[in-house]
Amino acid sequence: MWGGASWGRAALLGAVLTAGLTGVAGAGSYRVKAGDTLSGIAVRTGVSVAALRAANPRLKTADAVQAGWVLTVPTSSAPRAAAPVKAGTYTVKDGENLTVIARRFGLSVTQLLGANPQYRGGKAVWAGAKLVIPPRTATASRAVTVRATGSRPGRWAWPLPGYHAISSDYGERVLDAGPEMHYGVDIVAPHGTPVRAARSGRVLEARADFERGWGWTVVLEHPDGWITRYAHLSATLVRAGELVVQGQPVGRVGNTGRSTGTHLHFGTYLRWDPRDPLSLY
Ligand SMILES: [Zn+2]
Repeated sequence: MWGGASWGRAALLGAVLTAGLTGVAGAGSYRVKAGDTLSGIAVRTGVSVAALRAANPRLKTADAVQAGWVLTVPTSSAPRAAAPVKAGTYTVKDGENLTVIARRFGLSVTQLLGANPQYRGGKAVWAGAKLVIPPRTATASRAVTVRATGSRPGRWAWPLPGYHAISSDYGERVLDAGPEMHYGVDIVAPHGTPVRAARSGRVLEARADFERGWGWTVVLEHPDGWITRYAHLSATLVRAGELVVQGQPVGRVGNTGRSTGTHLHFGTYLRWDPRDPLSLY
């Protein structure tokens, strides 16, 4: 159902996105920071990569964004005007993907896939396709509220500040060997980048786990039964049993274990029940 309460949350999400935009010209522009990628900026601003390219001529010729550039964030995708929603459906626009659309509605990709099972297994969505937008859960709306305040520190810290490009989402994906569940997100960052504890807690594991493909991995235990995993590291910086504080470096990005390319696998669990990390931010 797409009732009045949902519209209220949609407006709140708009506030989040506006607050997330920075730059000299205020809302409607974004100043590129060191380590930003175009796809990361697209996710952060809730605008598709194609729309960003269309609004910024320099992006038509450049392969990568450079720190210091001020990008125009197109107003047609501005939060309040975004997502023409009718009876809980959304028409996919050119260049959009499930991650961007999920973010726009304050949903996790898993929640969006739950309402649109035909796109499970990594199938692409095409412009013009109609998606069902499910009502958001209490968990998702709490996460959005935390971000809307801006000044209040969130319950969860991003393990790779400045790096937001996701190369593989949480959920079912198809590899060479067939479909498998991916219980985490893969975040792209350079080899050696410090990986920071998402929350304070205690180190459960800091070891090489090549049997299960994690490579060098750190597992942290947090209050309330939450557990976080950081995998494919090039180095671990903590020892089992040690107490860590939120934001403390616990390892470095690498490419160890069953991994193709340098990235961080970041997994979140509630009492070892896997959860989509992006639903927590
Ligand atoms: Zn992964």
